[in-house]
Amino acid sequence: MRRRPRKGRSVRLCPQCGSAQISLVAGSIVGQVYHCQKCDYVGSLVFETEVSEDPKPGDPG
Ligand SMILES: [Zn+2]
Repeated sequence: MRRRPRKGRSVRLCPQCGSAQISLVAGSIVGQVYHCQKCDYVGSLVFETEVSEDPKPGDPG
């Protein structure tokens, strides 16, 4: 596995409601725990998807 040089970024999605409002609660022995602010889901399982960086809005040309 190798990192890409800032080509797009990965976002975490809630496995329950699909919201991107996921915040990292804390890292524990079992791993990282995330909390969804939308459906109150708490767990270490989250979806990760990659999105491409949008071009600057309002940039002519
Ligand atoms: Zn959720």
